[in-house]
Amino acid sequence: MFIDSHCHINFPELAARMPEILARMADNKVTHALCVSVDLPDFPQVLALAHEYPHIYASVGVHPDYEDTPEPSVEQLVELANDPKIIAIGETGLDYFRLQGDLEWQRERFRTHIKASRITRKPLIIHTRNASEDTIRIMREEGAGTEAGGVAGVMHCFTESLEVARAAIEMGFYISFSGIVTFKSAKDLQAVALEVPLERILIETDSPYLAPMPHRGKMNEPGFVAHVGEYIAKLKGVPVEQVAEQTTANFFKLFNVAA
Ligand SMILES: [Zn+2]
Ligand SMILES: [Zn+2]
Repeated sequence: MFIDSHCHINFPELAARMPEILARMADNKVTHALCVSVDLPDFPQVLALAHEYPHIYASVGVHPDYEDTPEPSVEQLVELANDPKIIAIGETGLDYFRLQGDLEWQRERFRTHIKASRITRKPLIIHTRNASEDTIRIMREEGAGTEAGGVAGVMHCFTESLEVARAAIEMGFYISFSGIVTFKSAKDLQAVALEVPLERILIETDSPYLAPMPHRGKMNEPGFVAHVGEYIAKLKGVPVEQVAEQTTANFFKLFNVAA
């Protein structure tokens, strides 16, 4: 069994195909999925999916790429997270690739999420792109991670260096690999995945984006996370069952939910 630790099945292109998506999850032995919130206006739909389906979990947060969207307060995030199906805070983080200029608001928003995670004791889902130094610095400053008395989380859709992965792992974080790791061009990322211990790995689709091989270029969906798991097994030279079992156990441990 596999778990898709990060998807956006509330997005209209996927939400319109739910029966098909759930059937493919079952076919590919993908038992659970975490539907990740990207802004407050969409949050009710994310929560509704988690309430409708026992094997769908959800998070609450505002994505760093969303500029013109209501800014969440710590209190608001804490309040919205107060539901047993909300198992994480995010996605949050920094993205200096999509947006440029004065991004102090992005850093402030990130700090808000870390504070909410510390209060709720729900792990962080962190998105970082072209901003790893500031990401790690702010995580340390705000006390993210088990060492600092906070809770851990996951560096999602990881595409950074081994050094960044190690810094996050030291803080108690997990590293989540998406379909990108299966791309022929992703040699550097494959080298990182080879070094990250299986005990620290999660797998995800980030669907509807980034479909793994052999579906690259098509619309992604949670069932395809099986391909990411299979690829990592091949890369590490271990049985696929081992990757499935370990990444599933990692998910339940990090997000503190019963298997
Ligand atoms: Zn992301
Ligand atoms: Zn995402």
